[in-house]
Amino acid sequence: MGPTEHDLHHRWGLTRQAAHDAFRAIAGRDVRVTSGFRSPYRNRQVGGVPGSLHTKRRAVDLVGARADLVWIKAHASSHRATERLHEYVGTTREHLHLGF
Ligand SMILES: [Zn+2]
Repeated sequence: MGPTEHDLHHRWGLTRQAAHDAFRAIAGRDVRVTSGFRSPYRNRQVGGVPGSLHTKRRAVDLVGARADLVWIKAHASSHRATERLHEYVGTTREHLHLGF
């Protein structure tokens, strides 16, 4: 099972609206969250772009089976995602970034 809306808000630090939209976009797909809210300091540490939506509590990174990530990416814009970035860094770091 994917993350709950409660997890996305309380554990991963997304705004209520972003947690709601991300939950709808993920639609119960079996994916795992690897990053949500980041302080500006943490964002710099992990090489995030300055002003990243992660620092505004409006982005989430997901890992899981490629088919699930591709499906979520394809449907996320219906749930107000403004950033949809399927990143491949080698094979182990593949993830889907969604910003709302
Ligand atoms: Zn991201």
